Amino acid sequence: TSGRPNKVRLVLLGAAGVGKSALIRRFLHNRFEHEYLRTVEELHVLEYDTADSATTRLEILDTSGSYSFPAMRELCIRHSDAFALVYAVDDPGSFQEVRRLRDEILELRGGKSAPITVVGNKSDLTEAEGRALLAADVMSTVEGEWDANFVEASARTGGNAMGVFRALLQQVDVPHRLS
Ligand code: GDP
Ligand code: MG
Repeated sequence: TSGRPNKVRLVLLGAAGVGKSALIRRFLHNRFEHEYLRTVEELHVLEYDTADSATTRLEILDTSGSYSFPAMRELCIRHSDAFALVYAVDDPGSFQEVRRLRDEILELRGGKSAPITVVGNKSDLTEAEGRALLAADVMSTVEGEWDANFVEASARTGGNAMGVFRALLQQVDVPHRLS
């Protein structure tokens, strides 16, 4: 229990439509829904049972990407302990948004790195014709240049959705049982 925080806040940021809400729904309910549910901003709060038989208050902030005021995003960044920056593997523009968000996080927090996990979601579309982003290129940027985590996942199939939260929980030192 040494050093385990009592409360952590994880935030998912990224362009609209990349699957932030779907990934959270996978983690919390192991479900996927096809209809598009527009999120304004939702804070999921749970008492999380840690692997060392304790609990941590886990807050997962689901953002919409369309903040009316920059000050709101600034607050959100300052008050979070780890960041999932989500893009969709079939949408190169959404990775540009990840770059922008990382710059903003580093600027606000100061320093050269931050607890960031970059998530390439919709990996079920990997075989789709015209897939626009190559995981190998993104991985070399994220792991090589940024020294951040990189995971690919599919909220749709559930493939490696837990890997997203495993990476985030590791970044905030919460012992977990996610395999
Ligand atoms: P958000 O705006 O980032 O919260 O994105 P949503 O979770 O609302 O998802 C946006 C759209 O992408 C919805 O139509 C989802 O059904 C779809 N979607 C989300 N995750 C996946 C995925 O892993 N694969 C595929 N093919 N579609 C997904
Ligand atoms: Mg959403």
